[in-house]
Amino acid sequence: MSILLGAIADDFTGATDLANTLVGQGMQTVQSVGVPADGFDPGEARAVVVALKFRTNPAEQAVADALAALAWLQDQGAEQIIFKYCSTFDSTNDGNIGPVADALVDALDTSFTIACPAFPQNNRTIYNGYLFVDGVLLSESGMKDHPLTPMTDANLVRVLSRQTTYKVGLVDINIVKQGSAAIREQFNSLQSSGFRHAIVDAINPADLMSIGEALDGMKLITGGSGIALGLPENFRRTGGLSGNTDAILPLASGRSAVLAGSCSITTRSQVAAAQLHWPSLSLDPCSFADTPERGAKEALAWVDSQPSDAPVLIYSSADPFVVAKVQKTLGRDKAGDLVEETMGAIAQGLVDRGIRRLVVAGGETSGSVVTALGVTGLKIGPEIDPGVPWTETINEPHIALALKSGNFGAPDFFMKSLAMLP
Ligand code: ADP
Repeated sequence: MSILLGAIADDFTGATDLANTLVGQGMQTVQSVGVPADGFDPGEARAVVVALKFRTNPAEQAVADALAALAWLQDQGAEQIIFKYCSTFDSTNDGNIGPVADALVDALDTSFTIACPAFPQNNRTIYNGYLFVDGVLLSESGMKDHPLTPMTDANLVRVLSRQTTYKVGLVDINIVKQGSAAIREQFNSLQSSGFRHAIVDAINPADLMSIGEALDGMKLITGGSGIALGLPENFRRTGGLSGNTDAILPLASGRSAVLAGSCSITTRSQVAAAQLHWPSLSLDPCSFADTPERGAKEALAWVDSQPSDAPVLIYSSADPFVVAKVQKTLGRDKAGDLVEETMGAIAQGLVDRGIRRLVVAGGETSGSVVTALGVTGLKIGPEIDPGVPWTETINEPHIALALKSGNFGAPDFFMKSLAMLP
């Protein structure tokens, strides 16, 4: 069966977030890790999200990556393409959102697309082209100090205009509130006046549903995960998608483990909560920096000494002053690499020991675990907490994976995720 919707995501957890939105709207979705190799089988899924990693890469490289993903998605029959980036429009003046969108417009032989990173459920809203985060302008939010992509201008028409030579217009909230017919009319009017891009306002999920309806048939859409909210319904209306498929829990059964490499406040509180229930091991990178393999070896020996009927928790999550001390001793990058490599090796050892249910905390940590396990794709299951679904690897051995970015999830996230599985 060919796919209907194809997406190209500029980072891994962003891809999962988008896939989660589609599944929440009843559309079976698979996420691939990188551009799929020959033989990749999306199964019953009607949407595939290709997770790439080019958010902060130079435009030329990002364009090449995105075009390779597009070629694969077109081969699979995708009728509509989403280019997914962050809901805070993370980019610089030399950023790649404009160049990638332009390259995709050209490759799809079209002349118009929209840019809508709004995600009201996560308090990212757009009003008169200005992006707000938690009610304040993007340029006054924490994003102004982001180490790689400081966002100092909240006006997305201006931001995108600096990244493209084509005209960038606006579909403002007054039009959006009039519904899909008015929005579509404005798309047509901008397109015929020579605009290639349109920032689209949205301040609540109903706006995204109206915009979604107006996007029926548009070849390329760019935005955050929220822009996908209204799309599955279009395919149902036109008959391409039958019914509303419930997300399926992973079937993989076996022992469970949690690996936490995020040091965020949220993850640290989740670790503290889980320690009350399960055996836990803290990893101190300084203690094995001289012989890196020792970290995973000792952790796996500890796993072997634990009762096999309870989940185990292994974490490097630490308070900021501990992390600062580690970074001072080892250097920031070296400390990060060491922990990530160790987590990957531990994940491999756990799977070798028959663990088939794995919860991972941390964006980078998740990336290194997925890479170490050689995961090629993930079938997206039901949501555990906002933005984090259960997934299952499509390649053997089938492993249930819950991959959460550090800040996501309630304090009982680890227990809650494992309790969801039969
Ligand atoms: P988040 O999603 O919260 O950003 P990530 O996994 O993306 O979490 O990033 C956390 C980073 O911190 C990783 O590079 C990880 O290797 C590093 N790290 C984890 N624990 C420690 C520690 N105890 N000391 C130093 N660095 C650490």
